[in-house]
Amino acid sequence: MSSANIDNREIARFDDQADRWWDPQGPSKSLHDINPLRLAFVEAHAELRGTRVLDVGCGGGILSEAMAARGARVTGIDMSETSLRAARRHAAARGVQVDYLLTTVESMADTCPGRFEVVTCMELLEHVPRPVSVVRACSRLAAPGGRVFFATLNRNFKSFLFAIVGAEYVLRLLPRGTHRHARFVKPAELVAWGARENLSCRQTRGLCYNPFTRRYRLCTDTSVNYLMCFHRSRAKEQTHGS
Ligand code: SAH
Repeated sequence: MSSANIDNREIARFDDQADRWWDPQGPSKSLHDINPLRLAFVEAHAELRGTRVLDVGCGGGILSEAMAARGARVTGIDMSETSLRAARRHAAARGVQVDYLLTTVESMADTCPGRFEVVTCMELLEHVPRPVSVVRACSRLAAPGGRVFFATLNRNFKSFLFAIVGAEYVLRLLPRGTHRHARFVKPAELVAWGARENLSCRQTRGLCYNPFTRRYRLCTDTSVNYLMCFHRSRAKEQTHGS
């Protein structure tokens, strides 16, 4: 791959808000709100205790720490150095053990393929230039028979209205400019990308937000936010010509 799969403007934005990762009312409020739901989704498909887990695009470690607290041996990777600093500081203060590394998922896949029983990649695909490359790297990093989880935003008119107009401009749940609609991923696209990389989709769940109660819940409606669980087949890693 010639150029790194990184959008430097995205990294700069996450760097800028890195000291507020753990502010439950700050720019990451939605991630704090959905965290128990995504943890429950992961645990419905994978045992975490004693399991080697890679959290890709871990940010301040909101999900990484929660999985470590469940007994997982978690490695978190991200390309925002200041976010990793905040993650390390927070984990140390809480006495939670997580290994945080500054690396891309693609280069990690080159150095330790098949290392992790569980790979989580939540709210990252919509921030990178080539999401397919991330899906491929996550699959390579998963042990045969392992689980790979993605969470992202669907791409349709409703997600434009809810995730951008509603969340960034009306309800102000997220800072303006957090998301670009063109980078959202349709569930069928993610299923197809996974299928090419030895990943078979086992379950898709939506995350629904109720603006009146201001609460999220897992639901069957995948039209805006959704989560997917894939199984990594036991077949050997495929070699790609291109
Ligand atoms: N997964 C975390 C944070 C999501 S925010 C959670 O859900 O709680 C997206 C994160 O992806 C940010 O921390 C950002 O720095 C990181 N990121 C963006 N592009 C990246 C890339 N190319 N490689 C690694 N991390 C990236």
